[in-house]
Amino acid sequence: MDFRLSEEQEMIRKMARDFADNEVLPYCQQWDEEHIFPWDTVNKLQELGLMTCGVPAEYGGPGIDHLGQCIVAEEISRGDAGLATTLAASTLLGPDPVYIAATDEQKKWWYGRMMEGAITAFCLTEPGAGSDAGGLATRCVKDGDDYILNGTKQFISNGGVAQLYTVFTTLDKKLGYKGMCSFMVDRDTPGISISKPENKMGIRSSNTTQVIFEDVRVPARNLLGKEGDGFKIAMKTLDISRAVVGAMAVGIAQGAMECAVQYAKERQQFGQPIASFQAVQFMLAEMSVMVETARLLYQKAANNQDMGLPYTREASLAKYWGGEAAMKVSLNAVQVHGGYGYTKEYMVEKYMRDAKIFQIFEGTAEVQKLVIAGDVLRG
Ligand SMILES: Cc1cc2nc3c(=O)[nH]c(=O)nc-3n(C[C@H](O)[C@H](O)[C@H](O)COP(=O)(O)OP(=O)(O)OC[C@H]3O[C@@H](n4cnc5c(N)ncnc54)[C@H](O)[C@@H]3O)c2cc1C
Repeated sequence: MDFRLSEEQEMIRKMARDFADNEVLPYCQQWDEEHIFPWDTVNKLQELGLMTCGVPAEYGGPGIDHLGQCIVAEEISRGDAGLATTLAASTLLGPDPVYIAATDEQKKWWYGRMMEGAITAFCLTEPGAGSDAGGLATRCVKDGDDYILNGTKQFISNGGVAQLYTVFTTLDKKLGYKGMCSFMVDRDTPGISISKPENKMGIRSSNTTQVIFEDVRVPARNLLGKEGDGFKIAMKTLDISRAVVGAMAVGIAQGAMECAVQYAKERQQFGQPIASFQAVQFMLAEMSVMVETARLLYQKAANNQDMGLPYTREASLAKYWGGEAAMKVSLNAVQVHGGYGYTKEYMVEKYMRDAKIFQIFEGTAEVQKLVIAGDVLRG
């Protein structure tokens, strides 16, 4: 077993890391404080090809493998998890239903728009359907050559900045999972409106809104797969994207640990750097264990994807442990900074606030444990 990254993956890591160091870290506290969606930086990510890193080569994208996409997500998240959310939601989560279920013609349309610069979003969650995605209520009714969509999607990353949505609906709520349908929807279709962005605890540079559909007419040719395929497509999408979300969480943990190490070496108390105290060293050691194990888990999940091996369990392990690592490491990074860690002068308080969402979105920590426990019990 060889744990080294390929030359290409190392190159991608360096490109994304340099971008985070030069274009993200100097500005991200201001984005956070002033609740700014950093359009200029997103445009620079577009120019570098990172906003389309999930577009397959046969549709004009860079054709980066799943592990490479995770590496980009980790490095950008080390800079700002809000920006990484924008990137991952647009290049991976929004398009994954297309990747999974679209025809060649549908892919040409969707990926073509992405290559022209369209941002995308994934619209599954509703006010009454979060963990229980199968309980969604947004209706789709066939009308001639179209479907008419009505309903409200909640907490949609990129909701207010996307040009393209993948949208999950039901033919009839009574049909449960079997009634779900998934569509590609253009933002400019009449009847779509957006709420004002959520005022969030963390990942504040990302745009999170409701997306509201009122008598939205979508051509039947935009249906992904067949009627009733929606639930399967949604679950497969989450399987694919969980490794990436685990990688983003590792980016936060890595960034917080780097801050803690630097501060521990600089801060003097009792006439010596606090790094000389074993209590502080133990916190740093635990951080390192969590970062390394969480990284190995997302790498395994992504590698399984690239090798065509099963990855549902691995993706849930990566997402669950990534979230735990981001939270624990960033909490302890604040602890290492003492009172200064509790102020906005240092990045660690931002890492801590950003970390929390990784135990909530893309399936909560509890939902991941349900998936993992199911697998353990099945043997
Ligand atoms: C910033 C942000 C960005 C997001 N981006 C997107 C996006 O781009 N697209 C999208 O579709 N959604 C998105 N979401 C939605 C996100 O995926 C949901 O918030 C998440 O799945 C949880 O759903 P909920 O908030 O309705 O919580 P609930 O499902 O109501 O859960 C509440 C609590 O109950 C627990 N719980 C629920 N069911 C069970 C169970 N069976 N067993 C044990 N515990 C359970 C949960 O773990 C949680 O602790 C985003 C959310 C946020 C906050």
